[in-house]
Amino acid sequence: MFDKILIANRGEIALRILRACKDMGVRTVAAHSTADAEAMHVRFADESICIGPPSATQSYLNIPALITACELTGAQAVHPGYGFLSEKAEFAQILEEHGLTFIGPKAEHIRLMGDKIAAKETMRRLGVPVVPGSEGGIDSDAEALAVAAEMGYPVLVKAAAGGGGRGMKVARSAEELPRALATARAEAKAAFGDDAVYLEKYLQKPRHIEVQLFADSHGNVVHLGERDCSLQRRHQKVMEESPSPALTPAQREEIGETVASAIRQLGYLGAGTIEFLYEDGRFYFIEMNTRIQVEHPVTEAIYDVDLVREQIRVAAGEKLSFRQKDLKPRGHAIECRINAENPKTFVPNPGLIKYFHAPGGLGVRLDSAIYEGYRIPPYYDSLIGKLIIHADSRAECLMRLRRALSEIVVDGVNTTLPLFEELIENPDIQAGDYDIHWLERWLASQTE
Ligand code: ADP
Repeated sequence: MFDKILIANRGEIALRILRACKDMGVRTVAAHSTADAEAMHVRFADESICIGPPSATQSYLNIPALITACELTGAQAVHPGYGFLSEKAEFAQILEEHGLTFIGPKAEHIRLMGDKIAAKETMRRLGVPVVPGSEGGIDSDAEALAVAAEMGYPVLVKAAAGGGGRGMKVARSAEELPRALATARAEAKAAFGDDAVYLEKYLQKPRHIEVQLFADSHGNVVHLGERDCSLQRRHQKVMEESPSPALTPAQREEIGETVASAIRQLGYLGAGTIEFLYEDGRFYFIEMNTRIQVEHPVTEAIYDVDLVREQIRVAAGEKLSFRQKDLKPRGHAIECRINAENPKTFVPNPGLIKYFHAPGGLGVRLDSAIYEGYRIPPYYDSLIGKLIIHADSRAECLMRLRRALSEIVVDGVNTTLPLFEELIENPDIQAGDYDIHWLERWLASQTE
């Protein structure tokens, strides 16, 4: 096992990683920007080291500064969290060249899955069902029009390098397609420096269902069920739950086995998530994330495991601490993403937390790095915490969530908390009857 791990991230996930390290008796180094000198994980870490100014490109994305930080502190491994460098194959490779361990998959698999066209082709080859669409990238308007005519409208133009819902445009007719292509390309070029795009059938009422996978270097591969992340705004997840209200245990086993077999064939290592759209009883692969995900705690709740600890264990060459037969889901879990945003307009609202009261009690987990007197810096993502509820059944989980929402107080900045108070009273949410377009429709109906 490692003696010392450097945490190359910030906010709630940095604290989450730090907690796993402490539980394992591993020392921690918080690598932080000047804007995060007062961050909670920096205070709790055994050591901290400043890696640059607020701008992420000069700090959290600054590979030379992070390598230097490892060398200065003697950290042997780096946990990248999510976002930032977590899916940069180059970072994993450079760490390895410096004799350091990247806590994540092999560089080749990060690279493969980072190209969504290659990822889709690979999954198709490995027997995973994929969304109907173009075979490979689209080079011209003529090619796009031909593929779309064959598939039928509406179609979705997606960026090969995509992420965070960027570089994605719907075209409802042949007239709309050239413009959708141009916008998606421009957006992808600006966001990822790569304007390669491909086409997919635009599904009308799918759910977003993703499967959590884990592999060690001893040939053990397991799946830990699914998460339903259909409640989305602008293709971004807002609330997640596990198990999905839409799946039967038999379907869970079947899709879990299919994806576990796929990543076994790949020789994958560590945590991974395979994302699907699910419509009319069928699964369609959209992408694979080669990192820990924001919504991992719902899986931890129902399987009673520590996924970050497992990431660290398998990166150190140890065996997974569970086998497939040990993994039995229990109860239901829901996560609410708390963003410092206006709950109606979703405009980010950084600033000073004047008063803060955390909810508590059985089945209530709050992963957050905020505290009273903390100033949320304006430079980063607006996620300030996650509220994770676990209970024996979905109905009890919603009831417990209602209680926790009534206890939590965040004063000084706007947050998305009021949104969840409304959502849990909605009959569709209570019935688990919602698809990926539900939230946008509901939000539109609220402003009419
Ligand atoms: P990103 O990497 O940008 O997050 P994804 O491929 O994971 O992109 O898709 C994000 C979200 O966009 C999905 O959860 C879903 O809501 C929507 N989406 C993606 N592909 C399709 C599709 N073919 N039809 C309908 N919605 C889609």
